[in-house]
Amino acid sequence: MLYIGSHVSFNKDTQLKGVVEASLNNNANVFMFYTGSNQSTVRFPINEEITRQAHKLMLQNNIEKEKCIVHAPFIINLANNSDERKYQFYIDFLKQEIDRCIKLGINNLVLHPGSHVSVPKEQSLLNVANGLNEALKENQDINIYIEFMSGKGTEVGSNIDELKTILDNVIYKDKVFICLDTCHINDAGYDLTKFDDFLIEFDKKIGLDKIKCIHINDSKNIVGSHKDRHANIGYGTIGFEVLVNIIYHERLKEIPKILETPFVGEKSPYKIEIQMIKEKKFNDFIS
Ligand code: FE
Ligand code: FE
Ligand code: ZN
Repeated sequence: MLYIGSHVSFNKDTQLKGVVEASLNNNANVFMFYTGSNQSTVRFPINEEITRQAHKLMLQNNIEKEKCIVHAPFIINLANNSDERKYQFYIDFLKQEIDRCIKLGINNLVLHPGSHVSVPKEQSLLNVANGLNEALKENQDINIYIEFMSGKGTEVGSNIDELKTILDNVIYKDKVFICLDTCHINDAGYDLTKFDDFLIEFDKKIGLDKIKCIHINDSKNIVGSHKDRHANIGYGTIGFEVLVNIIYHERLKEIPKILETPFVGEKSPYKIEIQMIKEKKFNDFIS
């Protein structure tokens, strides 16, 4: 089954119901959203009645909660513990974000591993694991998806070995997984025309069963550029065909695919891109 959707916005008034409605309008059957601004920790209370209505709407339209995702704000940086007070703030904020996910019934949370800044890289990877060990509780119904990063600046988690180090050091191994991002993998230095080589290495070191989500983005930059600038599908260096091959890959069938491509002017590209993906046919909707 193809699980395809996009990032959609979560607003104070419409909350999860607005997320579901926007996704249905795009003909998506999965979605991802931030519970507020992706750049700040300001959050509003979750309305239980709206959440109930949203769940009903999801049931009626065969949107599976288990495949939908929340994205934690970028500012959480578990990699850098040079400021003890800040590091603790990020852990505490992550705990609150986990509670919000559980309250919303969307129990999958994508998290950027963060940037090591001045901390030695090996230590920063342990910091990420330690932060997760403190934030997670044993009997909690939550899955954390650590995102594969492009390696921009001092970002960690931009290769398979670094992600493996994080996973090896988490206590609750049944709660921590990986989210791939095609733009990030390209920018991190993996040639996606040889995606099977990437999967073979990933399977050998981590295991394909750990991949729980794939962000589908084209890239404005070449392989290994460490830039992280997303392009609309078919308008970047990865290209439409390579992305379609990843989306329909035999080994990745049940994994939700989420578009995070840029708006075209004011306009959301997701409805058209989802249609293109379903039809496996590129449609030049920009130029
Ligand atoms: Fe992300
Ligand atoms: Fe992403
Ligand atoms: Zn990105």
